[in-house]
Amino acid sequence: MKLGIVGLPNVGKSTLFNAITQAGAESANYPFCTIDPNVGVVSVPDRRLDILKDLYDSKKIVQTAIEFVDIAGLVKGASKGEGLGNKFLSNIREVDAIVHVVRCFEDSNVVHVDGSINSLRDIETINLELIFSDMEILDRRIVKTTKALKADKKLQSELDILNQVKATLEDGRSIRTMELSDDEWTYVNTLDLLSSKPVIYVSNVSEEDLANDGADNSMVAAVREFAKTESSDVVVICAQIEAEISELETDEEKKEFLETLGLEQSGLDKLIQASYHLLGLISFLTAGPQEVRAWTIKKGSKAPQAGGKIHSDIERGFIKAETIAFDDLVEHGTMSAAKEKGLVRLEGKEYVVKDGDVILFKFNV
Ligand code: GDP
Repeated sequence: MKLGIVGLPNVGKSTLFNAITQAGAESANYPFCTIDPNVGVVSVPDRRLDILKDLYDSKKIVQTAIEFVDIAGLVKGASKGEGLGNKFLSNIREVDAIVHVVRCFEDSNVVHVDGSINSLRDIETINLELIFSDMEILDRRIVKTTKALKADKKLQSELDILNQVKATLEDGRSIRTMELSDDEWTYVNTLDLLSSKPVIYVSNVSEEDLANDGADNSMVAAVREFAKTESSDVVVICAQIEAEISELETDEEKKEFLETLGLEQSGLDKLIQASYHLLGLISFLTAGPQEVRAWTIKKGSKAPQAGGKIHSDIERGFIKAETIAFDDLVEHGTMSAAKEKGLVRLEGKEYVVKDGDVILFKFNV
């Protein structure tokens, strides 16, 4: 799962991305992750793992991780090939979701590409580039489908959707704002367009605005209002503070530093959690004396596929998943106490795994 960081120049993208790579997860635990200077891997914080570690007296915790890609250089005119336009647009095509950084801080030492700070205009500038790029691809697709329609009348429904998408784009709206049925979304997603991707808007604010989550900042308010129109999330961070946090060595130091700022959570952790939910991801947990670990799956995954995340043998030879909800396990203290209460279930192939399930897989090798 990959998220692409985009935004105009000088809004704080690299500062945020550097904080991400500094805070970076130990890559040895995540062999699936890409090794690329523009990709940062972060672990997903999960307090349940600390509790499980104590319950099982485990040696270590392994969090699950997601990747962030730094997509610098998106500027006005990118869809017309300005700057390295097309390259950036194709980088965006490869990510599952977009993290759109918006400048909401004043600082006369940091120039703005458009001469003044205006969060809504900045959002529209970037969004329009993606919309222009989508329009070009869509126009070609409409020509092709119209031709093919002569031989295959069944394509009429596809053409109808394509025309609806075109009208949305011509209206200056992103595809993600459309109201479509599940089947229509399935089709639209095959088009691989940019403005259909889910977005999180990151308001980059000054340190002063951080403590009350940007409540006194009119630029943040404008971002929030816009995000509401497309049901997107907003996360308020201060990229410079994130950079400072990422320099701290231990979790205790981080906690203390956050406390002095009056914060419970770092902006990066907020962003990671928002991203995780945006992508429809959930975690199931495994626990034993060696390690407690969180694993990422798509909401709706069944037990064998979940097991396949750990090892393909588990999916292939799946027999049962011995499952307990995290809260039930914590309430009763041990697996055997929970078993006595009948809270440990033996789930089969069709079981849809839930967030926080603690699972022990039984399988044939
Ligand atoms: P990018 O072009 O979007 O990658 O922006 P950078 O991360 O390079 O940031 C541009 C400038 O803004 C740098 O000088 C940063 O130090 C500064 N900057 C980034 N975040 C903040 C912030 O939260 N507050 C202030 N005052 N400056 C920031």
